[in-house]
Amino acid sequence: MPVPERVPEPVSERDSEPAPRPEPAPRPEPAADAAANAAADDARPFADTLVIGGGPGGLAVAAALTRLGIATTVLERDDAVGSSWRRHYERLHLHTPRRLSQLPGYRMPSSYGRWVSRAHVVEYLEDYAAHHRLDVRTGVKVLQVERNDGPRAYGKGALPWLVRTADGSRRARTVVVATGHNHTPYLPDWPGREAYTGELLHASDYREPGPFAGRDVLVVGVGNTGAEIAVDLVEGGARRVRIAVRTPPHIVRRSVGGVSAQATGILMRHVPTAVVDRLSRINARLTVPDLSAYGLPRPVDGLYTRIKRDDAIPLQDVGFIDAVVAGTVEVVAAPTGFSGGDVRLCDGTSIDPEVVIVAAGYRRGLDDLVGDLGVLSADGRPLVHGPHCAAGAPGLYFTGYTNPISGMFRELAIDARRIARAVGRTS
Ligand SMILES: Cc1cc2nc3c(=O)[nH]c(=O)nc-3n(C[C@H](O)[C@H](O)[C@H](O)COP(=O)(O)OP(=O)(O)OC[C@H]3O[C@@H](n4cnc5c(N)ncnc54)[C@H](O)[C@@H]3O)c2cc1C
Repeated sequence: MPVPERVPEPVSERDSEPAPRPEPAPRPEPAADAAANAAADDARPFADTLVIGGGPGGLAVAAALTRLGIATTVLERDDAVGSSWRRHYERLHLHTPRRLSQLPGYRMPSSYGRWVSRAHVVEYLEDYAAHHRLDVRTGVKVLQVERNDGPRAYGKGALPWLVRTADGSRRARTVVVATGHNHTPYLPDWPGREAYTGELLHASDYREPGPFAGRDVLVVGVGNTGAEIAVDLVEGGARRVRIAVRTPPHIVRRSVGGVSAQATGILMRHVPTAVVDRLSRINARLTVPDLSAYGLPRPVDGLYTRIKRDDAIPLQDVGFIDAVVAGTVEVVAAPTGFSGGDVRLCDGTSIDPEVVIVAAGYRRGLDDLVGDLGVLSADGRPLVHGPHCAAGAPGLYFTGYTNPISGMFRELAIDARRIARAVGRTS
């Protein structure tokens, strides 16, 4: 059943669609602007409601709060908003359709097309912050959130939180943590890694295939990023591209019969896991060829089981299946370690690529920031997210630390409105 691709809650009449802008040209680094604005920033007081992180999650919350009349300051460690999207590889497009990826109160222009480019995401986030006149302070890295045990800790107009930055501490009534699920690049500590004589980089440092043309490259990890980088390398002229796979992924088409995988995910979200697993198995048989002969058997565990248990979002195909079938991307076993210039694999073989690109994901990196507050689970996840606050931590919110089947931008938009309403109720 086709699902209309609309934002989760109706965008209000006042939401405007901006005039179309052409595909953005590369922009100069905004550092100079940020420096020029720094002095003026210093003169402005910070609001009592602080949002940490100027990505889509933080901006969406700030916009929703601002629209409710709650003065809010966004603290962003980098020189501009949307810094994660500035760093992603050039080829990247949203896998979620534009209409299911817009943030509250400001639409993405239809000229962006259905699958929005990385550059357009950056442009949208800039325009979004400007449209809502958000108070964003760039170059402000938050080191830690603590309880305020000093002045104004309790009572009427209390400011129970102390937000520590390199430039000093700010007291706050409300803190929203939006530093990103994909915060700290993760590089497994393989034996021999430090002494590896080839080139080794994390996927977060990969921008485009130019530097790898004519070279033999191993991509480690077959998530969306690894698969897409492998295809990019092939198209960019790498001599040989292999991809190391530990657990065969679920592969879905980005869109089937005009219905996006995300729309199907939204529909399936509250269906029992076993049912979704069964339906997705049927869907895979109908839409994705059997790649067993190429080293990618169909996964044993169900699609939704893997999302819920392992946080493993299915791979959305944007050229990977064709590349595997054509033999331009070769599947190999997962690495177990390095020896000189060799990469040892878990099937007992060794290979000697010139470059290893590790697409093994990220860590949330919340321990340093809020680890002392008793608001994280043993594996470093916030105990609560969205409009809820953990016991004993009123006014401390988290957004963006889940990995939903229904699309993250969409969830960030929903969370933003809910958090703003929750903050509004306690104001
Ligand atoms: C490659 C890739 C593709 C994706 N594609 C999609 C997609 O198609 N559709 C979808 O819905 N989702 C997608 N996502 C998932 C998700 O929507 C994005 O990661 C999104 O950017 C998350 O927004 P965020 O604001 O939570 O985090 P981020 O965008 O990571 O923003 C966090 C911000 O916080 C700042 N920050 C971090 N630490 C601090 C600190 N201590 N002090 C101050 N500032 C700090 C960072 O500089 C950054 O600007 C994708 C993710 C990745 C990695």
